Amino acid sequence: MTDFLPFSKPTIDEATIASVADTLRSGWITSGPKVAEFEKQLSGYFGGRIVRTFNSGTCTMEIALRIAGIGAGDEVITTPISWVATANVILEVGATPVFADIDPVTRNIDLDKLEAAITPATRAIIPVYLAGKPLDMDRLYAIAAKYRLRVIEDAAQAIGSTWQGKPIGSFGDFVSFSFQANKNITTSEGGCLVLNNAEEAALAEKYRLQGVSRSGWDGIDVDVLGGKYNMTDIAAAIGLGQFAKLSDITAHRRKLAQHYFKILGADFEAKTGAQLPPADFESGGVASEMPGTHRPTPCGCTNWHLFQIVLPERITRPEFMERMKAFNIGVGFHYAPIHLFKLYRERGFHEGMFPIAEHVGKQIVSLPMFYAMTEDDVERSCAAMREVLG
Ligand SMILES: *Cc1c(COP(=O)(O)O)cnc(C)c1O
Repeated sequence: MTDFLPFSKPTIDEATIASVADTLRSGWITSGPKVAEFEKQLSGYFGGRIVRTFNSGTCTMEIALRIAGIGAGDEVITTPISWVATANVILEVGATPVFADIDPVTRNIDLDKLEAAITPATRAIIPVYLAGKPLDMDRLYAIAAKYRLRVIEDAAQAIGSTWQGKPIGSFGDFVSFSFQANKNITTSEGGCLVLNNAEEAALAEKYRLQGVSRSGWDGIDVDVLGGKYNMTDIAAAIGLGQFAKLSDITAHRRKLAQHYFKILGADFEAKTGAQLPPADFESGGVASEMPGTHRPTPCGCTNWHLFQIVLPERITRPEFMERMKAFNIGVGFHYAPIHLFKLYRERGFHEGMFPIAEHVGKQIVSLPMFYAMTEDDVERSCAAMREVLG
């Protein structure tokens, strides 16, 4: 039997491991020069915008909400199909989460439904780029401008994704990234926030470390309630090693995704009733259709963080996952609809509110996709799927 093929796996090269060892030996293992260097390199990638790092992509969004002054009485609109962190941060700051259903093709928030959900209490939107796929960014920011809303982009999965040739994060309002272990680049745990100006950066630094506003020989002062969210130099050393490979990682994932489309074939959907992701591949900075596929792709280029299919109704997700496992293929599941979790049901959400999200949330699976994967692995994954879906 062949080795187990997981759905995701980090790759940390030897140079990165050596750099972590150096950091450990240096005597400076918390936030220090490596964090400063990582923030500087990220800022360069995001077109010179200001970047601050944190110990997760969750606190990153919470801090963005706090900087924007969002709290009790404010509504924040987001998608029901994301990691629960996206909505939890809204509750965390005391604001009210409002969901809008998703687009069945991109599986991201439907911008028409988002606009329809805006009320006088709406202060912000948190769009999520599922699998790394951006929204129609021009339209998103046109809506934000029209209703004067802050945008906290949950780009946790989207480092390396682009919109009309520009990296996600290099434009827009707040943009939050995660470097959790399964993301395209990792610091084991961590995140970063792209900010608009020095005042926001100063606030981010305060929220990141106990709200300390001034420190020196004559004492310190604290003027806001901050937390303990700083990234360590150990994590930043991993991040620097990973970041050096970002373009290789993105290119390799695109190649694997193209291979999935090629091996599954143009008639895969018709034959199986499963739904593939939109096939957008960048050529000359513009999203283009993959030959043999059929959907227009208005939404920019994904970094292929995940390769997700929606299963036909005739097979349940647990059954699919179990049968793929018998072929030694790992399958992931991203995500269950947030509004159906108990915590959210208790706040008045219920089944039937967002039917597309509920269907996709029940049937979506993530196939193996990671940097160390080969085209042979893609073929194994496709062969198993052909058996399982008949
Ligand atoms: C990973 C992820 C998060 C949370 O990031 P952490 O670094 O794990 O806190 C939030 N939203 C989405 C869409 C994610 O994929």
